[in-house]
Amino acid sequence: MDLFEYQGKQYFARFDIPVSPGNVAVTVDEAVTAADAAGYPVVVKAQVQVGGRGKAGGIKLADDAAAVRLHAGNILGMDIKGHVVKRVWVEHASDIKKEYYASYSLDRAAKKHLLMLSREGGVEIEAVAASNPDAIVMLHIDPVDGISLAAARDAAVRAKIDEEAIDGVAAMLVKLYDCFTRGDCDLAEINPLILRPDGGVHALDAKVSLDNNAAFRHPEWDEFRATEELDPREQLARSHGLQYIGLNGTVGIIANGAGLAMSTLDVVNQVGGTAANFLDIGGGANADMMAAALEVINFDQNVKSIFINIFGGITRGEDVANGIVDAMGRVELRAPIVIRLDGTNAEHGREILANAGIPESKLTSKPTMLEAARAAVALSGQKGNN
Ligand code: GDP
Ligand code: MN
Repeated sequence: MDLFEYQGKQYFARFDIPVSPGNVAVTVDEAVTAADAAGYPVVVKAQVQVGGRGKAGGIKLADDAAAVRLHAGNILGMDIKGHVVKRVWVEHASDIKKEYYASYSLDRAAKKHLLMLSREGGVEIEAVAASNPDAIVMLHIDPVDGISLAAARDAAVRAKIDEEAIDGVAAMLVKLYDCFTRGDCDLAEINPLILRPDGGVHALDAKVSLDNNAAFRHPEWDEFRATEELDPREQLARSHGLQYIGLNGTVGIIANGAGLAMSTLDVVNQVGGTAANFLDIGGGANADMMAAALEVINFDQNVKSIFINIFGGITRGEDVANGIVDAMGRVELRAPIVIRLDGTNAEHGREILANAGIPESKLTSKPTMLEAARAAVALSGQKGNN
């Protein structure tokens, strides 16, 4: 789950990471109240989950209440790269001497945490990586050991952080690691991490992504979930209790079991297609589940064909088939289905499908996963490669 900047800063504060005093506002009046409390000058910041807000006019400095009124009025409701601004964060403005970058993420290949630190902050780190990769220091951290203050200091020195900021940055790196690990983040990024003229160091921005797998031990995350902005496909799927991840391809996929769903993605790729989603309907592939799954996939305008790949274990072939027939009666599908049904009572299931009076143009059955993938990819308008 991705947090908004203001939520990220509230989260940082729980781990003693210094941020500017401020408050969130949904109206102009609230913005003025927040500004009065933070103390002028303030900065009014659009809360959208997209970078480059400053360039888009979503970040404005204000010296007094009248200026806050003007800027908050302009920013609330503004469209930034397709994201409509519903809230602004108003904080006491900082004097900036230097802007750095710091983040922790998970390097899955290395099976370690990864610290990235740069003296060139304030711009997107991808841009720094492209133009000046040497300006980014990377440090792998064994999760068993964590990061010591000495190691953090060493990283700061290697990143050529200004002498006067080294201690502050090192302390910040230790706190941010604490937030990243104890706070169960997938990503904890500060860009910019600033050095003030008075020598202090603090977080001017916050980009935090929480690991949903850890949600069970964070009841306090519920408040973040209330403002979560999901891909509409994912929202619909979640409301039906489905495991769904939206992708960018044209073949919609329904499978039972996460392993089979992943294999299905692989096979679709192998024969030259692209998957529109990952969707695991789990063990009980009943009519309601199938209807919900088809409804979610049907919602995606990019989907040109639907590949249903079911291997019946506990799930029985006739239940799956009845589920599909029932679902097709409820959902008007825009794309044709190709099904591969195997396992327990598969023959009975295929018989039900064959006798359901569904035209071949809407539903075809293939005996193997590979043949079904080829058929689905062909119907998806992609060329396929074998
Ligand atoms: P992003 O561009 O969407 O990531 O938004 P940021 O929160 O990172 O802010 C972008 C830029 O606005 C920063 O790099 C700063 O240069 C500037 N900025 C943000 N807050 C302040 C502030 O309190 N004082 C000053 N002087 N500039 C700020
Ligand atoms: Mn930023």
